[in-house]
Amino acid sequence: MELWQQMIRDSIHSVDQLVEKFGIDRSVAEKLDEFFQARINPYYLGLIKYPGDPIWRQCVPDEMELEDMDGFEDPLHEDEMSPVPNITHRYPDRCLFLVTSQCGMYCRFCTRKRKVGNSDKISMKQLESAFKYIESHKEIRDVILSGGDPLMLTDYLLERILSRLREIPHVEIIRLGTKMPCVLPQRITPKLCEMIKKYHPIYVNTHFNHPWEITEESTKACSMLVDAGCPVSNQAVLMKGVNDDPEVMKELLLKLLKIRVRPYYLFMADETKGAMHFRTSIDKGLEIMDRLRGHISGLAIPHFVIDTPGGGGKIPMLPDYVLHKDSDKIILRNYKYENFIYRDTHNSNGEDNGKKTVVNKSNGKSKKSKELSASKITQLQYNEN
Ligand code: SF4
Repeated sequence: MELWQQMIRDSIHSVDQLVEKFGIDRSVAEKLDEFFQARINPYYLGLIKYPGDPIWRQCVPDEMELEDMDGFEDPLHEDEMSPVPNITHRYPDRCLFLVTSQCGMYCRFCTRKRKVGNSDKISMKQLESAFKYIESHKEIRDVILSGGDPLMLTDYLLERILSRLREIPHVEIIRLGTKMPCVLPQRITPKLCEMIKKYHPIYVNTHFNHPWEITEESTKACSMLVDAGCPVSNQAVLMKGVNDDPEVMKELLLKLLKIRVRPYYLFMADETKGAMHFRTSIDKGLEIMDRLRGHISGLAIPHFVIDTPGGGGKIPMLPDYVLHKDSDKIILRNYKYENFIYRDTHNSNGEDNGKKTVVNKSNGKSKKSKELSASKITQLQYNEN
């Protein structure tokens, strides 16, 4: 047994352990166990600093889960978009391939509580209809292995899946959606990396939510994946009491860049039954994004998205940078709340366009106008708008 497998075996998962370790009332612990089981491996447990901290909130079952019943079992309608078992095909050129129901830790905010943790094993035979579906849909050029966590599979099983996918000519890229670098970095072994290298291009989407998750161990895991040729990006979820603070988010994003992980998405928490208490307001998310753009490198800034209920897909959310738009121009504000006019294209050749001019610093303090291009535009009528 490999170290990571031993750590899974040594995880906190039983009602007795929840009562003893976290002081949860037994009857509540039993209900929580029935609703969505716990798995807290020794590594992630060791990141907790105090009860109720951002790490604790992500992994320790909470009575609030039992009160959050106005969410949805399947908020993203993944099951409705599943043409064959284990495949969700929402976007034209890519599909989600659920290869296991197991994870290195069971996150209390998980969108797939309905599936995850289910001990039914998925066999290769069971995956056959999914392979056949991908084979017969030539428009699928990108397959995202998810679950559960695909890195819960042994190297042997994972390699069987990767090699099978690589036999399909139209599958150009494969993505591994895995939280292991964050919750159980010991899973990233030299043997795993050597195996993955044979099946490039493989991208890794991981999932860090808080700066405390960036440790010596997780840094090493991400470095190994990058050194093995996998671009690694991060999908975080905005959560109350975890990372709904601009400074915490900024620290997380900058630390991710330092370990060569590119922030990719920041999701609004889905409307999931049992996880509604993690949700923040959209305004909070926009405020955080406003405090990031321009203040830190664009490399560190994720797309802030709502994965729309009903299977509408991801829709990007931006703070209001456009103050006015008409057929000739657009008026924008920058991260310092200074306003700018940018002339729009008037003809198909795009001549004499694209000149940027600052017309006003209307942040309530300065009204000084400043020209940035050779072309002078006087549009003072917009100055106070
Ligand atoms: S690792 Fe992903 S799929 Fe597994 S419990 Fe966490 S959020 Fe859900």
